[in-house]
Amino acid sequence: MFDIIFATGNEGKMREIRAILGDMEARIRSMKEAGLALEIEEDGTTFEDNARIKARAVAAALAGQEKERECVVMADDSGLEIDCLNGEPGVYSARYLGEETPFSEKSADLLRRLSDVPEEQRGARFVCAVTAVFPDGGEITVRGTIEGRIGYELRGDNGFGYDPIFYLPEYGRTAAELSDEEKNRISHRCRALEQMKEELKKRM
Ligand code: IMP
Repeated sequence: MFDIIFATGNEGKMREIRAILGDMEARIRSMKEAGLALEIEEDGTTFEDNARIKARAVAAALAGQEKERECVVMADDSGLEIDCLNGEPGVYSARYLGEETPFSEKSADLLRRLSDVPEEQRGARFVCAVTAVFPDGGEITVRGTIEGRIGYELRGDNGFGYDPIFYLPEYGRTAAELSDEEKNRISHRCRALEQMKEELKKRM
């Protein structure tokens, strides 16, 4: 049994992370559950940069705490890339139109910007980079993606963030219309974390 501390304050993400890593022999805690309150500036220009920045900051904060020495610290950075907007909102997905703006408004704004864009040019993907910092200081970063299209309206109540406008043609539904189990089997986060699980099995 080892410990994983995941550097996020986002409850929606934590729920997905616990479900995906649930079959590992590990105790999984959020930063808050580990008693850490850090403001980390995500000033990287790629998802990978930001995942590394967050994981390294939390690992450094824990380094002084004797009892936390055997922890693997993980962090992710994720977002939505829309092809016809040159990859926007990308690494700025959470900050698009300001942190406090509800996702329903951010999503409605993106739909407006795409109002004249035909079906075949509405390609988009969710991207998730995950970094793990190991107790020996080594680190690894992996990336998972899921391809889809931007829909024409908000649909569905599950999930979080931009899920209601992210349409998955092979399912005929948006990510917000999938059950948690369905989303966790195919999501960008799941794909990145499945790769990370293989790395953890080798090292822990
Ligand atoms: P992060 O916390 O910096 O990784 O911000 C990621 C942002 O990207 C979130 O606030 C959401 O807006 C968006 N995002 C990432 N993953 C998902 C997802 O699975 N569904 C919907 N939106 C997502």
